[in-house]
Amino acid sequence: MVFDYHIHSQYSGDIPAGKGSTVNELCEAAIQKGFREIAITDHCDIDGVYYGAFPKLDIAGVYRDIVKARAQYAGRLNILFGIEIGQAWHMPKEAKFLIDRFEFDYVIGSVHSVRGILDFADLKMREMSDGELLALWEKYIGEMKELLDWGYFSTLAHITYPYRYLKFAGRESLIDLEKKGRAYFEDILKKAIEKGVSLEVNTSGLRQGLGQTLPNTDLIKFYKELGGEMITIGSDAHHARNLGADIRETAELLKSLGFQYITRYQDRKPYMQKID
Ligand SMILES: [Zn+2]
Ligand SMILES: [Zn+2]
Repeated sequence: MVFDYHIHSQYSGDIPAGKGSTVNELCEAAIQKGFREIAITDHCDIDGVYYGAFPKLDIAGVYRDIVKARAQYAGRLNILFGIEIGQAWHMPKEAKFLIDRFEFDYVIGSVHSVRGILDFADLKMREMSDGELLALWEKYIGEMKELLDWGYFSTLAHITYPYRYLKFAGRESLIDLEKKGRAYFEDILKKAIEKGVSLEVNTSGLRQGLGQTLPNTDLIKFYKELGGEMITIGSDAHHARNLGADIRETAELLKSLGFQYITRYQDRKPYMQKID
């Protein structure tokens, strides 16, 4: 059994009107692709919402659609009500209030930007100096530790997120993830294990030209060596067509690395599912 634990519906603030998929379209795609469980995890970059950079996520709307879909697909598909919260540590009180207010099964914690700077996806990295980019990377690592210290979430998403944009800008050698990845992420992986926060393996990099999952295979191995066992897998699909992409292959990879279980959630509590 495989599961997709990172999916965005049309409600997600980062999807232009008319471009996304409805909850029902996501469910149909999931069933057609042989999935028995999915988590719908729309974007809420909490600082962006408060400062007006993003439209407010209609969480009640997503929830209403999920409740309807749960009845419609009962016995065929388990649908988790999730959310992806970006920059929670910038506004920890507001983030906690929001998480407590709704009946989430699962909360993704993400770092899409650092204080006072745009989302890494929106930065003009080609025009930035090496020094600026390295400083930004250090800040990123530091703020991810702040997110873990806060810790009020289920899974830590796409930990190598800025690396994707460095690569697209041809600047990835600055970071040299292959050689220095373990040193950059050791404290983060240890903190996640200590906090009981699972590690997401995000498959979007495989279909977006990065050629690797986020994090890459070596960091997943390192997580295991450090004693990490809790892993979720998500496609980060922003449309039904990408739902489930590379999830089976990634589960196989995890198995070959010695992971016997995938982490699932219900009512924000983790439990382990054997990879078969
Ligand atoms: Zn994200
Ligand atoms: Zn996402």
